[in-house]
Amino acid sequence: MKLANLIGWSALALTVGAVLFRAGYRIGRDRSGQGLAPSASPPGLVRHEEAAFYFRGISFLLSDEPDKAIEAFTQAVRINSETVEIYLSLGNLFRARGEVGRAIRIHQNIIARPDLSDANRTAALYALAEDYRQGGFLDRAVDSYRRVLGVDAHHRRALVGLQALHESEGRWDLALEVLRTLQRVSGQADPRREAHLLLRAGLEQQRDATKEEAPSPTPGVVDPAPFLAAIKVYPGCVEAYRLLGEAEIEQGKYAAAIKHLSAVRKHRPSHFFLLLGPLQKAFSLSGDETGFYKLMTETVASPTASPRLLLCWGNLLEEWGRLDEAVQWLRRGVARYPGSTYLSHRLMVLLRRQHNLEEAVEVADRCLDLLTARQPVFQCGQCGFKSQDISWKCPQCQVWDTMEPL
Ligand SMILES: [Zn+2]
Repeated sequence: MKLANLIGWSALALTVGAVLFRAGYRIGRDRSGQGLAPSASPPGLVRHEEAAFYFRGISFLLSDEPDKAIEAFTQAVRINSETVEIYLSLGNLFRARGEVGRAIRIHQNIIARPDLSDANRTAALYALAEDYRQGGFLDRAVDSYRRVLGVDAHHRRALVGLQALHESEGRWDLALEVLRTLQRVSGQADPRREAHLLLRAGLEQQRDATKEEAPSPTPGVVDPAPFLAAIKVYPGCVEAYRLLGEAEIEQGKYAAAIKHLSAVRKHRPSHFFLLLGPLQKAFSLSGDETGFYKLMTETVASPTASPRLLLCWGNLLEEWGRLDEAVQWLRRGVARYPGSTYLSHRLMVLLRRQHNLEEAVEVADRCLDLLTARQPVFQCGQCGFKSQDISWKCPQCQVWDTMEPL
């Protein structure tokens, strides 16, 4: 028997032992008259027999005969909270070991019992749902999660599991519905996820709609509602602005497209550079080329302009043949973000094109200085931890004298 197996089963044996001990303790207390309710415990003989089955189960487990162990535990299980707990953890342990079939058998066995409390039924159904999910039986997993929620509509872990499952299957409408319930139950909003699910669900609906109208396709008719809803839930949802803007361009609503695409400057300035393509297109289709130039010079001059935006702007100016202007903006970019290697690199390239080698070398020098200063000097050969100073005992993996110079 492998050591890992032994450890796993020993953990279970300890759980069983602890539960039996607690159960025994309670019976003892009831009998000693401290419990207020009349004792409901069965005659001692049954208890003993039952305990014997447990111990047989454990010894089967320890000798690596899980099926016999399951059999023994099945005979032992009487339905009260303690024994169900043992049985549940046995199933969960099988699942954790990747033996999903056995886990399913155990959890189904619990659910099949008629005299089960609601709490135990939900726990077993939830465990079964997890088994199915891990085993790849997704429809059955969905069904089990739904049954858990049928008993306890606020079961958070079931909501989380079901939500993730719908998401991984690409059932965006269902994923969204469960997410909303989860948000209500937990009181915790998840606006980023909600916004993206709104987008996916909306896009899918539109695809289905155009499929149905296959004989006479009507291009360009896109419902902006899901994009607007996503922006409302999460104003930083760049993808929603992009889809909305592109749909509006398609429909010839250039002013609206410009309004929505440029709103990202305010709501997500770090990502605004991603929308330059459609924004430029909207301006140029509306016949307002200078409008784009004006908006851009304003934006790159603002303190929220990201290094990526400055880089894109430099590239556009260069494309338009405005090399001097590109260099000017990149200089400002490098001054503002001295640690940005791609800005420095781009500036160097353009300076060389201007035959300004002296400044190009200066920029390269400064950039390399900064890079070297940030470079780690030592690395742990054991865990890969990097540091500028040597530690004779690695602070991450705690092994002695493993740091090698890079
Ligand atoms: Zn280490």
